[in-house]
Amino acid sequence: DMTQVGVNGYGTIGKRVADAITEQPDMELVGVAKTRPNFEAETAARKGYPLYAAIPDRMDQFAEEGLELAGEVEELVAESDVVVDCTPSGIGAENADLYEAHDTPAIFQGGEDADVAEVSFNARANFENAVGADSARVVSCNTTGLSRILAPLEEAYGVEKARVTLVRRGGDPGQTGRGPIDDILPDPVTIPSHHGPDVNTIFPDLDIDTLGMKVPATLMHTHSVNVTLESDADAEAVRDLFADEERLFQIPAGADIDGSGKLKEFAHDAGRPRGDLWENCIWSESITVEGRDLYLFQAIHQESDVVPENVDAVRALRGDEDAAESRATTEEAMGVGI
Ligand code: NAD
Repeated sequence: DMTQVGVNGYGTIGKRVADAITEQPDMELVGVAKTRPNFEAETAARKGYPLYAAIPDRMDQFAEEGLELAGEVEELVAESDVVVDCTPSGIGAENADLYEAHDTPAIFQGGEDADVAEVSFNARANFENAVGADSARVVSCNTTGLSRILAPLEEAYGVEKARVTLVRRGGDPGQTGRGPIDDILPDPVTIPSHHGPDVNTIFPDLDIDTLGMKVPATLMHTHSVNVTLESDADAEAVRDLFADEERLFQIPAGADIDGSGKLKEFAHDAGRPRGDLWENCIWSESITVEGRDLYLFQAIHQESDVVPENVDAVRALRGDEDAAESRATTEEAMGVGI
């Protein structure tokens, strides 16, 4: 039988997760909960997604905009086998009681503190920890991107120490209020940034230091990565290792893709929905090994890389034990893998 999935919060992450759920052969979207009848509510309705009011007091507003409601969020939670909470940072924690009251397993996003859920989740690195759990937190876009490269490196070579500088977009394309608009900020200025500890929610024993910066860009984050391996490697072997990972895309040297702009152009040309890049985009030419030190640059599409992870988290909470099979199902249904 099909797993019934509800999505609470239909913004940048929620609308992508809802679409991905509808594509899965083993899942059905019960509906999506919205706070306001804005353009996203309008497009959800056009797609035929049942709309639920996240704030019952505002049900009239939907009617005024000509949008039909299927009910209020509590009904969505009651009807779902799993709910994916895609509300803004901090709201997920406030919603946790609602999910518990209905005994509905819940998935939270990376903006929440780790203690919002039983486990922090990455489909490649620790799927098994979430099998049968009542709740999981899909880690942030950056932590997801780092976990996907660290897991195979750890397995193949062992990781002595990882050092990563994260050059972060100021805001998503729709976040018109965010900045900086003309500056380069150490952000946070204190070191290490919070990203390393977040990676440690997935790899508790990994030695990692991270530094964050923020720049006037909206399209993607870019990571400058240095991993000291425990055993010898060479660049070609690392390329081969990464080639086996469907969620890692190695940008070929001849592609003429020099940054996020052309990556997004490529995604649009390839017909990707919303120009999404679910895969880490690693510049193949940047993969360099000096002794046991690996270096590379990767770009991370913050709006979409966590989407396949959310789909896999649904299966893990439902008790599916086969991580590789879940990943492959997700990838085939969505078209992940370049
Ligand atoms: P968003 O602001 O684009 O979307 C959140 C949606 O939730 C909005 O539509 C908002 O109206 C709605 N909402 C607000 N309060 C609500 C409530 N009480 N009930 C239901 N819906 C409510 O935010 P986002 O970028 O999609 O982020 C969602 C979560 O995903 C956050 O934890 C964030 O940290 C995480 N995340 C975001 C990104 C990113 O780059 N955008 C990447 C990875 C993880």
